[in-house]
Amino acid sequence: MTVRPGTAHIIGAGLAGLAAALSLSRTGRPVIVHEATGQAGGRCRSFHDTRLGCRIDNGNHLLLSANRAARDYLAEIGAAGSLVRGDAAFPFLDLATRETWSVTPGGRGSLQRVLAPFRQVPGARTIDILRMLRLAVSGPTSTVMEALGPGAMMERFWRPLTVAILNAEPEVASARLLRRVMRDILGSGGDGAAPMTARVGLSESFVDPAVTVLSGRGVQIGFGRRLRAIESAGDRLTALHFPDTTLALTSADAVVLAVPPAVVSDLAPDIRVPSAASAIVNAHFRLDAPAVLPGGSTLIGLIGGTAQWVFLRGTVASVTVSAADALLDRPVETLLDTLWRDTAAALGLPCGPRPPGRIVKERRATFRQDPDTVAHRPTARTPWANLVLAGDWTDTGLPATLEGAIRSGRAAAALLK
Ligand SMILES: Cc1cc2nc3c(=O)[nH]c(=O)nc-3n(C[C@H](O)[C@H](O)[C@H](O)COP(=O)(O)OP(=O)(O)OC[C@H]3O[C@@H](n4cnc5c(N)ncnc54)[C@H](O)[C@@H]3O)c2cc1C
Repeated sequence: MTVRPGTAHIIGAGLAGLAAALSLSRTGRPVIVHEATGQAGGRCRSFHDTRLGCRIDNGNHLLLSANRAARDYLAEIGAAGSLVRGDAAFPFLDLATRETWSVTPGGRGSLQRVLAPFRQVPGARTIDILRMLRLAVSGPTSTVMEALGPGAMMERFWRPLTVAILNAEPEVASARLLRRVMRDILGSGGDGAAPMTARVGLSESFVDPAVTVLSGRGVQIGFGRRLRAIESAGDRLTALHFPDTTLALTSADAVVLAVPPAVVSDLAPDIRVPSAASAIVNAHFRLDAPAVLPGGSTLIGLIGGTAQWVFLRGTVASVTVSAADALLDRPVETLLDTLWRDTAAALGLPCGPRPPGRIVKERRATFRQDPDTVAHRPTARTPWANLVLAGDWTDTGLPATLEGAIRSGRAAAALLK
């Protein structure tokens, strides 16, 4: 590894670290990325699964077309065409009643036109729909349930949406974070609600092309390089300790710490970070033949089961359960049975025999996005002039998403320019 004066050291090659590396390398600054594992991507990655005999993602990831920073990132790495864009609609199926509905937020202009698409939700009364306006005035301590209240609109639209976007039930989730997402969607006249998913895989869209572009710019990416400790003097970091080497920092060098909050806490206990986390469980089933979801969409939200969203990619049906801490201790075979039952019902397939399946449990999938934990998100600045933070858990104003991670990486880089 060659370390040139003025090097920016990026710790962590998740999306936040990669976005920071892209921003800094664009200006010609020397950049080195240090990643603890053998693979870039962090919580957004693909791998070959021997049981299923194909590549799968650690979990279903969805971009919304309103995610401008993520789309700019994809354009910069030449991967804009690697996503499939669906209709700007949220489709749902009630497993108990077999009712289907789809909400297409698209109204612009009068309040009536903005609210009209939400009338598609079965059982939603005008008064429930109008409660949406309370999101706009929700305070920092409000939960989604406090802002929007119970009822059909909650159970058949807001709950599945909140759990998917904020990885928390409405009774827990921050209303302000949901408001930000709804503002982005509705602010674009509904066009921002189109789901975008990776055609081949998360690594193929978000990670591998970024590594290629960075390498082309001379950025060194070191794998298996876990930062163990930092050293400081006054208001500057002076050294980075890795298992096999210590890097002394010159006065022109800088560091972007783009690692999960618990790691920041270990390295720099004085920095306040959100400590609570929420799990996501995904199941992937290898089908005999491509299947079809109601309405022909590539994804659907399920009401009344354990599975919450089903995504189709070729012959793989992938199921997401967010806010899934209660599932973590369930045996894998039990989870596969439960989630396949819901998936088969959604696909109109017989329940047995169950196809080969794989469970991926992400215990700390996101920080817990409740009002109290959200208040503990730090800004990118730290007490050290040459150390900045990045990550979906920093104070971006956005939920813990790819969009938030990418924006955080760019914001951290901007502070070092
Ligand atoms: C199952 C699942 C589903 C999701 N679905 C969606 C979705 O549909 N839409 C969406 O927008 N977002 C989704 N997300 C969230 C999204 O994946 C994250 O917001 C994003 O990937 C976070 O990126 P990051 O760079 O902030 O953190 P991370 O991806 O956690 O990156 C941190 C990196 O730092 C490395 N590291 C840790 N410690 C060290 C160390 N000491 N030294 C060096 N390196 C270290 C890690 O190995 C990792 O590569 C989902 C997440 C999960 C887990």
